[in-house]
Amino acid sequence: MSTVLVIGAGGVSSVCVHKMAMNKHIFTDIHLASRTRSKCDAIAASVKQRTGVDVATYEIDAEEVPAMVNLIRKVKPSLVVNLALPYQDLPIMDACLEAGVDYLDTANYEPKDEAKFEYKWQWAYHDRFKEAGLMALLGSGFDPGVTSVFTMWLKKHRLKSIRQLDILDCNGGDHGQAFATNFNPEINIREVTAPARHWENGEWVETPAMTTRTQFDFEAVGTKAAYMMYHEELESITKFNPEIERARFWMTFGDEYIKHLTVLQNVGMTRIDPVKYQGKEIIPLQFLAAVLPKPETLGETTKGNTNIGVIATGEAIDGSGEKTFYINNICSHEAAYEETGNQAVSYTTGVPAMIGAAMMVSGQWRGEGVFNMEEMDPDPFMEMLNAHGLPWQVKELSGPVDF
Ligand code: NDP
Repeated sequence: MSTVLVIGAGGVSSVCVHKMAMNKHIFTDIHLASRTRSKCDAIAASVKQRTGVDVATYEIDAEEVPAMVNLIRKVKPSLVVNLALPYQDLPIMDACLEAGVDYLDTANYEPKDEAKFEYKWQWAYHDRFKEAGLMALLGSGFDPGVTSVFTMWLKKHRLKSIRQLDILDCNGGDHGQAFATNFNPEINIREVTAPARHWENGEWVETPAMTTRTQFDFEAVGTKAAYMMYHEELESITKFNPEIERARFWMTFGDEYIKHLTVLQNVGMTRIDPVKYQGKEIIPLQFLAAVLPKPETLGETTKGNTNIGVIATGEAIDGSGEKTFYINNICSHEAAYEETGNQAVSYTTGVPAMIGAAMMVSGQWRGEGVFNMEEMDPDPFMEMLNAHGLPWQVKELSGPVDF
C-alpha cells in the first residue's frame, strides 16, 4: 500500500509508470508530474488503456523547489521517483528533505555547464537524509542500477572478492534512422563525448573519448565493436568493492553512429558552452537535441535486442581458485514496445526504477541516508527482475577477458 510521485514524462518514466500500474498491489496510488503536462496525460491514457489503472497528472518545473514541496505536500507520497534529467536531482532531493519524503533516481547529478559524472554532490546529502530519517536511493536504472546489483550478486553467490570487472552494454537494436539516440540526446551525447576513464590499480586512468575499441560476440545480437567509456557505476562499484584492481565499461556503437558523432563534434555541434546566435545565447548541444528524433518516437520502428551484463573475475567462494562469471540480460525491443509502447533502452531503465521503488516502499531495502544500489541485498531485486520482464542468466567463462 503506497502512494508514489513520479517526476518526468519521457521514455523511462513511461515504462516505469506502466510497470507500477501492473503492480497495483504495491503501488496503490500513482501520481505523475513533469514540465509538460500533456506528456503526463499521454502516459496516463496509455496506462489506463493497457491496465485500467488511473494515474493523476500535474505540471511542475522540478527545479522550482518551493513548487515541488507544495506538490509533494498535496500528493503525500511515501516516495518521489525522479525520472526527469540529471540536472534536476539536487532540487528534487532538496524538496524531498523539506517535505520529509524518500527519494529515488536513475542517473547521478550533473551540472548543466560541465559534463561531469560524479556522485560527490549527491553523497554530500547523506547526513541530511540520515538526520531526517529519510532514504535516498541513487542510480536504480540498468546501468547504473542492475549492473551494480549484478556485481553484488556475484560477490554474494559466486566470488569472495573481485579482481577485475568489465561491464558490457550492447544495444543491437536498429531504429532505421541515420542518427538518433535511444535516450535523451543531450545526456547521451554528453556521456559518449566525455573522456573515457577506467579504474586501474587504485586510480582513474583517462583516455580520449571513443579511442579504445574491442570486439565482442553478444548473444542474441552478434559480434559488435564496443568502445571503452566512463560510466557512473564505476565510481560506486569500486568504492564498495575496494579490492577491484581493474574496472572498465564498454558500450557498442555502429560505424554510422560514430561517423555522425565525429562530424557533429568536429563542427562544434556537441559543445555545451553558450554561443551567441542572432543576438541570443544558445547551447549547440541543446539545439542539436531539439532537431534530432525524439527517443520516445523510436519505439515502433526499433527491432532487435539489447544485451547488457557484467564479467567479473576473482576468488571463488567455494575455494576452487580464480573463476570468471558472466551475468547478463537480453531484452527485445519489439517485446518492450508491445508491452509498454516504448523501446528496450527505456524499458531496461524503467523496469529497474519500478523495482527499486518496490524495494523501498515495501521496506525490503531500508536505510537512513543516501545509498547506492551496491549497499543493498541483491537477492530480492534479482528475483523481481526475473518476474517483471528482465530475466538474467549467469554462466562461468573459461578465463578472464582477453581484451
Ligand atoms: P527524456 O528526455 O525522454 O525525459 C525526461 C523528462 O524529464 C521529460 O519529460 C522532460 O520534460 C522532463 N523534465 C526535464 N526537465 C524538467 C524539469 N525542470 N522539471 C520537470 N520535468 C522536467 O529522458 P529519458 O526518459 O530517456 O531519461 C530519463 C532519465 O533516465 C534521465 O535522467 C536519464 O539520464 C536516465 N537514464 C538512466 C539510464 C540507466 O540505465 N541508469 C539509462 C537511460 C536513461 P519535457 O517533456 O518538457 O522535456
